[in-house]
Amino acid sequence: MPPVIDLEAERQEILRQYRRLLRTAKPYLHDGDTKLIKKAFNQSLEAHKDMRRKSGEPYILHPLAVAQIAVEEIGLGTTSIVAALLHDVVEDTPTEISDIERDFGPKTARIIDGLTKISGVFEYGSSEQAENFRKMLLTLSEDVRVILIKLADRLHNMRTLDSMPRHKQLKIASETIYLYAPLAHRLGLYAIKTELEDLHLKYTDTEIYAELKGKVKQSQSARNRFIKEFVHPIDEELKAQGFHYEIKGRPKSIYSILKKMRKQNVTFEEVYDLFAIRVILDVPPEQEKAACWQVYSIVTDFYQPNPDRLRDWVSTPKANGYESLHTTVMSHPGQWVEVQIRSRRMDDIAEKGYAAHWKYKDTGSLQPESTLEAWVNRVREMLETNNSSALEFMDEFRQNLFVKEVYTFTPKGKLIILPDKATALDFAFDIHTHIGLHCLGAKVNQKLEPFSYQLRNGDQVEILTSHKQRPTSEWLTYVITSKAKTRIKDFLRDDKRAKADDGKFILEKRLELIGVDNTPENLQRVLAYFNVPTPSEFYYRLAVGQLDGREIRDSLFKTTTAVSRANSVLEPKKFDHEVQKIRGVRPDMLVVGERTDKFNHSLARCCNPIPGDDVFGFETETGLIIHRTSCHRAVDLMSNYGNRIVRAKWTDQLELAFLAGIRLKGSDRVGIVNDVTRIISTSLKVNMRSITVDSNDGFFEGQIMVFVNDTDHLNKLIQRLSKVNGVLQVERFES
Ligand code: MN
Repeated sequence: MPPVIDLEAERQEILRQYRRLLRTAKPYLHDGDTKLIKKAFNQSLEAHKDMRRKSGEPYILHPLAVAQIAVEEIGLGTTSIVAALLHDVVEDTPTEISDIERDFGPKTARIIDGLTKISGVFEYGSSEQAENFRKMLLTLSEDVRVILIKLADRLHNMRTLDSMPRHKQLKIASETIYLYAPLAHRLGLYAIKTELEDLHLKYTDTEIYAELKGKVKQSQSARNRFIKEFVHPIDEELKAQGFHYEIKGRPKSIYSILKKMRKQNVTFEEVYDLFAIRVILDVPPEQEKAACWQVYSIVTDFYQPNPDRLRDWVSTPKANGYESLHTTVMSHPGQWVEVQIRSRRMDDIAEKGYAAHWKYKDTGSLQPESTLEAWVNRVREMLETNNSSALEFMDEFRQNLFVKEVYTFTPKGKLIILPDKATALDFAFDIHTHIGLHCLGAKVNQKLEPFSYQLRNGDQVEILTSHKQRPTSEWLTYVITSKAKTRIKDFLRDDKRAKADDGKFILEKRLELIGVDNTPENLQRVLAYFNVPTPSEFYYRLAVGQLDGREIRDSLFKTTTAVSRANSVLEPKKFDHEVQKIRGVRPDMLVVGERTDKFNHSLARCCNPIPGDDVFGFETETGLIIHRTSCHRAVDLMSNYGNRIVRAKWTDQLELAFLAGIRLKGSDRVGIVNDVTRIISTSLKVNMRSITVDSNDGFFEGQIMVFVNDTDHLNKLIQRLSKVNGVLQVERFES
């Protein structure tokens, strides 16, 4: 029996959400805006009237929620509210873009058109998805609100992911961490970025997420006590000096805690900076810099700062517009604490990013030329100059989202911001293509350096050029920016074409000399003899002397045997075949899923899944590969090749054995290896595949590969091993 739907209650809920939206937007609204929003709401309501979301709720609640996020969490205005309300209308209902344009004007229509273009993202395979994304970015240069609303849309979908089937959850969550969270970060939307990351974790690594969340909650009251004590003297002094301010203790996000735990290989308890203290100052724009440093001075009067951890993004904002003064100080219980000092305006920009940024710019604050604007320009340029495939482009773009910047200067003191690890050659291309193409080297801070020199913050760079200098393919290894790469590739391609023309001429002359006609058949024989795939490649090699022109005669008059170029790539030995050999059990029952029985499968070597792990299947030409959902490659695979992901889970069976890695650390003593191996092979009857032990200075570290039945079996083993005298740490590792 279908559930009874209380239509009146639903109507009430829709109205409640609509009124909430209007209330939140009110401070931003001008004359006539309310009417426009009402019109958009009514149209959306009508268009979606028979639709429901997967969760069963009326569809209109989704566009309402997206509009709410756009205003409340991103700080967008009327046009965006209207576009958010109507964002799914063209995609899912008979409404056309022309209808929107007629009713709401060209601006709104363009935004919705941009949003509609990218809405099919989930349904397609990798390259189409990449192509869609590229289209979305094209609209970025036109109107960045397309991406901001898309982020609001994604955030709401992530918040309501519960009602989706598992394989869609994985897919959407992965795509989010792959692209949308970095994009939010790049646009300075910290709050949204953090929430997207945490939600990703919630759906891909559910257990760990729940565990960490529990721990954060557990430690909350102790943390609050600590913060209260820490803040007390600062608070008093700020009051005494007449500051208007607010102090907050902000816990770190679950995702960033986990990232830190994994990166530094520490436990939750060992992550020292679980939270940061934030001082937000209410000061007029012209006083904010001085005020921030005043507060810094007060904080460090009470607590000793770590000189290596001072970050001044007030004088030089980050590329995404972030401004703040950070310092890490030693608290009295002997714990490092990060303190962030910023004005209300800076805080708004940090939380809401791009939109808030422009809001303040309009009111004429002291904001220097936006580095974010420069980034948008760079993306635009990348789109215009980049002729690689959509997938390559996507990779490059993603790299561009993650990188840190290095701040450098021209001889005249102009600031040039490049991605971290950029070289002098990148710098040259950033200034001008012509300078890049003829770059010989650089004078960095008056010192002569090769153009492969890796730039550092504050470097002043003068590029040295020569007319005779020309790029070679080796140059591609010296640059990291897409602009430099594209320009070098363009040059090499043109150069190759010119050389090929020369080569063609050489061949013609040579054939004339031998007295052979220049026919396609003869050309084919020449190519076959030299084993070159295409005529243009042959011409090129001939021109640059990689091939000996004198052999052309031989190629036409001597009979040759075709060289077989088949690459006999050995198929990697699949692990479960090995298991089969050892145990004599058919491995076909490892996974059950909708389509798995048709496929061969093997266990991924990157993460060595064992029964009990959360897993998924990945289709390849040779069969299905089973990965753990926590595998470091999982995100990449799921977001780029979503159509090749297959749901997988373990069947109940005990007799199979799986390879797992265990890492042990401890203090060395005679006989410890014996004790360890005895436990493994005798008491738990586990087969070992390999064991390596390194020891020095009385400390040993060992890695053991064992065959176990499932996670329980493995955990039991780990428990037993950690009780061995001298063993300090035992953990599972991914090879
Ligand atoms: Mn939507």
